[in-house]
Amino acid sequence: MKICRFRVEGEARYGVLEGGRVREPRFDRGELPGCQYVNRQPGEKSWPVDTVEILPPTEPSKIVCVGRNYREHAAELHNPIPQEPLLFLKPPSAIIASGEPILLPDVSRQVDYEGELGVVIGKRCSQLSDAADALGCVMGYTCLNDVTARDLQQADVQFTRAKGFDTFCPLGPFIETELKLEEVTVETLVNGQRKQFGRVSDMIFPVDAIIRYISRVMTLEPGDVIATGTPAGVGPLRAGDEVEIVVSGVGRLKNPVRAKGESKF
Ligand code: MG
Repeated sequence: MKICRFRVEGEARYGVLEGGRVREPRFDRGELPGCQYVNRQPGEKSWPVDTVEILPPTEPSKIVCVGRNYREHAAELHNPIPQEPLLFLKPPSAIIASGEPILLPDVSRQVDYEGELGVVIGKRCSQLSDAADALGCVMGYTCLNDVTARDLQQADVQFTRAKGFDTFCPLGPFIETELKLEEVTVETLVNGQRKQFGRVSDMIFPVDAIIRYISRVMTLEPGDVIATGTPAGVGPLRAGDEVEIVVSGVGRLKNPVRAKGESKF
């Protein structure tokens, strides 16, 4: 099932995608705070998908990212293979929807795309040790672009600035709730040309291990997003480009790239 957030008649709503239409599900408000997708029963109202504005599919309390989770990507940036997942955070304020522009800040000379499988949490969880329990906390999967100011990442000791600019987390357009992870591929195209291609089965730390590892550090809340790392082939974006992240079985996240006006900082 594909689920989404969308705006129609000036109001943000949650929806289920069915045959080219977005159908509003019935859900009981307050049933589980923070989880907007608890009740997936279809409601009465529906709209053609191309007549509504698709919003980022979730409003997470945090975006937890894994760095260097594919061997070839670690190697291309001359980093060692990590022995444990390398975690960092992106701020929720960086999220934009499919179709919204990525804005290149003038303080960076190299802003890179990083196509990734995004995991959306459906159930509050912490201190998980069992793989099946970890996967049981997943609401579904989406496409994510971990946009990175590579020069600032190298200049700073940590990643907050390089990964945290507004518009640096394109997310969506939909959440797929059923996915055979072992078959999933992640692909990035810039102006229609393939730049990255990877298989989720090639991750150093698989999805269940990442969730367990994070859950032993911080409580994951419904709606939270995990960025699972990027395959080899990262590279720069320029104003005028169009970047697409394609996760097989999930969808296509497409964003134009524009220069940002002069920064005050
Ligand atoms: Mg990344």
